Amino acid sequence: PVRVRMAPSPTGSPHVGLARTALYNWAFARHHGGTFVFRIEDTDKARNTEESYDSLIDLMQWLGLSWDEGVVVGGAHGPYRQSERTEIYADVLTRLRESSYTYDCFCTNDEVEARRKASGSKVMGYDGFCRELSDAQRAAFEAEGRTSIVRFRMPDGSITWNDLVRGDITFETEFVPDFALCRANGDPLYTLTAPVDDATMEITHVLRGEDLLSSTPRQVALFDALKELGVAKETPAFGHLPYVMGEGNKKLSKRDPQAHMALYREQGFLPEGLLNYLALLGWAIAADRDVFSLDEMVEKFDIKDVNPNPARFDLKKAEAINASHMRLLSIDEITHRVLPFLKEAGVVGDPVTDPDAQMLELAMPLVAERINKLTEAAPMLGFLFVDEADFERDPADVAKLLDDTGRGVVQASYDALSGLHEWSTAAIEEALRVALIEGMELKPRVAFGPVRVAVTGKRISPPLFESLELLGRERSLARLQSALA
Ligand code: GLU
Repeated sequence: PVRVRMAPSPTGSPHVGLARTALYNWAFARHHGGTFVFRIEDTDKARNTEESYDSLIDLMQWLGLSWDEGVVVGGAHGPYRQSERTEIYADVLTRLRESSYTYDCFCTNDEVEARRKASGSKVMGYDGFCRELSDAQRAAFEAEGRTSIVRFRMPDGSITWNDLVRGDITFETEFVPDFALCRANGDPLYTLTAPVDDATMEITHVLRGEDLLSSTPRQVALFDALKELGVAKETPAFGHLPYVMGEGNKKLSKRDPQAHMALYREQGFLPEGLLNYLALLGWAIAADRDVFSLDEMVEKFDIKDVNPNPARFDLKKAEAINASHMRLLSIDEITHRVLPFLKEAGVVGDPVTDPDAQMLELAMPLVAERINKLTEAAPMLGFLFVDEADFERDPADVAKLLDDTGRGVVQASYDALSGLHEWSTAAIEEALRVALIEGMELKPRVAFGPVRVAVTGKRISPPLFESLELLGRERSLARLQSALA
């Protein structure tokens, strides 16, 4: 059975690459009817924060990427936070030491670096100095008061694996130095914890970012030891997902505001729209198709189809895909999703009053087709919900459109509408066309812009005649009048 995992470290705010990795693992698990594990790699006490942990959970829940085992939900292979698994690592470390897969190293970083310079070696990292220490040498180091760390003895020869995304990859182990498994104080490092977790959680496929590719030869070698010790059954298959590039063809970095997932939620992206876009960062459902549902992705997702080349993050495309998903929602669904944003913007109260709820039901059809993100509804609808005393117009739009000509238009509109018998969209449109287009011989754009600013406060609004009908006779006329004051 397929078992995959995502294993983020709770540092900083979750970014695009992490969400893409989560999505691919999730889709892979769902496609194969497997298990998706969510564990937290929080061994680096100095850099982990509880806030970051919370935001990871929050993000996954918002995206709707459900996990079968892991933090929050628990499971048979827990605990799922590495900080709660220290005994497991200590136990495995002891067994590795007892079986001579490792050795104690007393060197300081400065000594290692000085030796490397002196030898002219181009291989970065440890040179194996402490590999074959005699008991006397050990005793001498200990007598000096030196502390030691545990290093894994890389085997001779080469390490090869068949990468699920990249095909065969081989590392000559002369270029993969013996690596530390823990700190001097005994705290385990990622080099130990990730493979031990993958082994004990029985992970079958490790799908993760290309940035971790260089740690794979070490993990493959360590897995051989873990299998010998009976800690691991099988070495998982590895697949390294392509880099995500940002501006200027540089790797999307945490400094890039677009890299942060929180932004998309704040901006009113739909989770399914964003996931659809993230799916395209290295994968395609078909050559000529960009928009699809998660169910379709699950059905079609094959890790072998992931493109090893760097993917380019394109905000415009993300927005366009999100817009396509907005078009797929019913008015009721859009209303439901927009509501929290309307509350947050103060357009409606919480709870929503009956009159506001009625107005919302009438108004949403006017904007549903025009918004590409959930945040875009509030600025368009605000004019319908605001108390007359608080109604304001955009000063820039006023300056541009309520000049002398504009005021003339507004006056004519007021005159035409104040005598109207029936306050309906059709009657309003007819009256304004007769007064402005025929009467004043204005082009529609010139005619209706000032009216729009007068009654909605903005140049951009829902359709004008419907807006006037919804706003009602009294408020519309009052706003036309106050625009002239
Ligand atoms: N904790 C690692 C990270 O946050 C992931 C480790 C892995 O996937 O092997 O990048």
